[in-house]
Amino acid sequence: MHNIDIDVVEMTMDIMKYVLGRITKTNPELGKPMKEEALRALVGETINEKGIGGEKAFELFRDVLVKATIPIDHPRHLAFVPAAPTRASVLFDLVTAASSIHGAYWMEGAGGIYCENEAMQWLVSLTGLPKGAFGVFTSGGTAANLSAMVTAREYWRKNSPNTNKKGIMITSSGAHSSVKSMAKVIDAEVLLVPTETAMTRSDIETVVQSLSEEQQARLFAVVATGGTTNAGIIDDLAAVASFCESRDLWFHVDAAYGGGALAAPSVRAQFHGIERADSITIDPHKWLFSPYDCGAVIYKKPHLAKEAHAQEGSYLEIFKDEGAAGFNPSDYQIQLTRRVRGLPLWFSLAMHGTAKYEWAVEQGIRLALEAQKMIEATSYLEMVIDVHLSCVLFRRIGWEPEDYKEWTYQNLEKKFALVTPTKFLHRGQMETVARFCFINPDTTHEDIQAILDSMQ
Ligand SMILES: *Cc1c(COP(=O)(O)O)cnc(C)c1O
Repeated sequence: MHNIDIDVVEMTMDIMKYVLGRITKTNPELGKPMKEEALRALVGETINEKGIGGEKAFELFRDVLVKATIPIDHPRHLAFVPAAPTRASVLFDLVTAASSIHGAYWMEGAGGIYCENEAMQWLVSLTGLPKGAFGVFTSGGTAANLSAMVTAREYWRKNSPNTNKKGIMITSSGAHSSVKSMAKVIDAEVLLVPTETAMTRSDIETVVQSLSEEQQARLFAVVATGGTTNAGIIDDLAAVASFCESRDLWFHVDAAYGGGALAAPSVRAQFHGIERADSITIDPHKWLFSPYDCGAVIYKKPHLAKEAHAQEGSYLEIFKDEGAAGFNPSDYQIQLTRRVRGLPLWFSLAMHGTAKYEWAVEQGIRLALEAQKMIEATSYLEMVIDVHLSCVLFRRIGWEPEDYKEWTYQNLEKKFALVTPTKFLHRGQMETVARFCFINPDTTHEDIQAILDSMQ
């Protein structure tokens, strides 16, 4: 392992050349999915007793396998929630790996965790939460939501006579699927407020009034969304905060996608009320230009998370010792061993400054508004609802669900764009519509025009 021979040097050069080429390309090849049998025919078996050698393995990856992936940072990838990690953050992801830092405990990871905490401090400042609020980086929004929900449930159990009962959470039908699936993990019931637009206090009250007294006693949390994944819609956060305060319920805001827009002055006011949350999820790997994977969970009172998450174990005791005292990220979320995944964000923020982030997020919003104008000026297209954050929902007049699907696959087949349809409840009907979600500041007017032209 320790003899660095000439082959290794060459392989390293090959890999560095690829990395530099890849991150300097603003328009990477789109790639397209392939069936497993087709890949197997091209690549064959790669693992054997002797090894196939780094050069060969890398060649297979570079020339075949990576081409069967769709880069999330392609400027015409406007499906789901795409991403656009900065060059600085991608490079620093390599540094993070090379530095072999254990990110669970301050004792081992102090210098790395210091950097993460600098970046976290900026995130916390965007939320407007009171002094003392803090958070940790997680593997993503799902893990952040789960960590917050565990904290909420533990807090409820400690402070109510319902210790052995199943808790009930309220969220909206527009909430992300992870909220519902993480509720299964903590064995909580979820009541859905049926709305595709912003959830209001009266929506919640209607649901609560339909509950029995016994059920009402089991209510422990409301999860509001700070930018739905489908349409960018922000719940009435101030109203949900008031409702939660009046009933002593945990108030979680899932802003995994929308949270980046807290940095954008043009839409910041729409998040009014988020500063009263007990916990907030934000995914830097969505709209804050970090590489996968990087989520974040922030708590108003971090000690409540610590009470819920800190792990005990005889070999872990040293970390609680005076000599190692410091911030232990593992105490605040579900994971023990962890990569210092906030490090790429830290380096990029430190290099570029926060104003650059503000500009880049605003650029996503500008692109969405520009797309709306272009759609409104096109005879065969119309908006379904106005733009929210950077999501654009629109219809191709006369198209059936099948047409949208075919259009998606044709664009992909031509390695031209990845734009997928979605469903949206409109006038009481679930309608299949086209959707753009803008993240990448390198997407251009011409990119949008070319995609709209492909719907002619
Ligand atoms: C994407 C998303 C999630 C899930 O985050 P992952 O990072 O994919 O785990 C949760 N909530 C919302 C609102 C999202 O947009």
